[in-house]
Amino acid sequence: MNAPHKPAQLSVIEHFINGRRVAGTSGRSQPVFNPALGTPVSEVALATKEEVDAAVAAARAAFPAWAETAPLKRARVMFRFKHLIEQNHDRLAAAITREHGKVFSDAQGEVVRGLEVVEFACGIPHLLRGEYTDQISTGMDAWSMRQPLGVCAGVTPFNFPVMVPMWMFPLAIACGNTFVLKPSERDPGPSLLLAELLSEAGLPDGVFNVVQGDKLAVDSLLHHPDVAALSFVGSTPIAQYIYTTGASHGKRVQALGGAKNHLVVMPDADLEQTCDALIGAAYGSAGERCMAISVAVAVGDVADDLVARLVPRVRALKVRDGMEADAEMGPVVTAQHRERILAYIDHGVTQGADLLVDGRKISVPGREQGFFLGGSLFDNVQPDMKIYREEIFGPVLCIVRVPDFASAVKLVNEHEFGNGVAVFTRDGAVAREFARHIQVGMVGINVPIPVPMSFHSFGGWKKSLFGDQHAYGMEGVRFYTRYKSIMQRFGNPLTKGAEFVMPTAK
Ligand code: NAD
Repeated sequence: MNAPHKPAQLSVIEHFINGRRVAGTSGRSQPVFNPALGTPVSEVALATKEEVDAAVAAARAAFPAWAETAPLKRARVMFRFKHLIEQNHDRLAAAITREHGKVFSDAQGEVVRGLEVVEFACGIPHLLRGEYTDQISTGMDAWSMRQPLGVCAGVTPFNFPVMVPMWMFPLAIACGNTFVLKPSERDPGPSLLLAELLSEAGLPDGVFNVVQGDKLAVDSLLHHPDVAALSFVGSTPIAQYIYTTGASHGKRVQALGGAKNHLVVMPDADLEQTCDALIGAAYGSAGERCMAISVAVAVGDVADDLVARLVPRVRALKVRDGMEADAEMGPVVTAQHRERILAYIDHGVTQGADLLVDGRKISVPGREQGFFLGGSLFDNVQPDMKIYREEIFGPVLCIVRVPDFASAVKLVNEHEFGNGVAVFTRDGAVAREFARHIQVGMVGINVPIPVPMSFHSFGGWKKSLFGDQHAYGMEGVRFYTRYKSIMQRFGNPLTKGAEFVMPTAK
């Protein structure tokens, strides 16, 4: 698509193949907006199948030498990359805010959470150590090793343009694979900064490549015979499609999908702490986080007090251009996404939920064209309402009132998503019961957004993840390697002639 309003001076965000930026050849491109301004700031090239093939070919050519490179030397590249990320921390954060819209301090935090995976990947010589058993049989030893897969691909969403790619490629590369990243076409700029920092860190050409694009690029990766594994993070319908298509083409796939995260407020919770947690987790990054809290489950008689405390806090949210120092919430990513969120709020009103704070009409002085929304708060939301069942992915918090703890657990467990969840309580027994019985992948006890650190692993249950392995941590190492078991003997005196019985220890 060539946008009709494209001013001639807009720069084009290109691909990065075999160690250098490569201009798109197809003429297909689309505008990338600064959501706070509401105007395009660049164009992104949309790759053709041939351009994807070129990236995969570069990755395939680079694989044998990189896989043979000692893990310690691969780790040294990661150490240099870590240092460069630290040096370019604010540059990366500003690039995120420019195209995504989230507030700058939040973008800085995103960079750090990505950096943590690089720090974990620096330990790859240790992480790849196998197991060894001496004398499994007389004169015979056994050991295991994990080996890289080949060319791995990553397809990532708009909401964390630095962190989510960094859930994938640092470990994939450290394990000895080569990589092709297809970032979100809505905020693709930071991907090129990451590619250039990797090159500067000494990563050989072709080990990390970027193809910009849309469905055509993703499908080209999914069908490519030389792509061994694909990591995806995005919405559930696309995650399911990626998982089934990739698997049917013989690829290893992990596909992380959407979410509807509940925070259960028990009557004994510290309400001041709970309100702080809800405000940050529901409205931070304008609700565009897969771990955002979008449902507060008020148990017993806690609801009225909770609502009375939340309403003024939601009204007082500082909605600004994300580069302003006191901004608490920036715009949402595109005009289309804003329209989608507005439609959900309208639905909630039509279906009879009580809209206590209406964020639909907001004007940010000096940024009248920006894609802003204020915070919205619904009370008395019912489980059959669309605003409860579906992921809104915007600054909208729904309060569902339930009579007791068991009803809260049932509500959460019956939801089709199972990414994150939290309970706020002072009762250790309730917390333990909750952690053990809740059908969700990541659980917070008085922690609203329990995103695991890089040495643990990230992933949801139910329709929030398709595949077996979670992202990063040891789950990531397992995803990006194949297990091999080896038995060895030399000159064993116990072997004489052919044996036709199942071998057992001698
Ligand atoms: P999205 O599914 O629209 O896009 C994700 C990626 O898929 C992009 O790179 C996009 O180009 C590609 N894509 C889109 N449509 C496609 C199609 N039809 N065929 C093939 N590829 C396609 O998601 P988004 O709007 O960028 O991101 C928001 C979503 O991501 C939310 O649902 C959010 O919950 C989810 N998310 C999940 C996690 C998690 O860890 N579970 C983390 C971040 C975001």
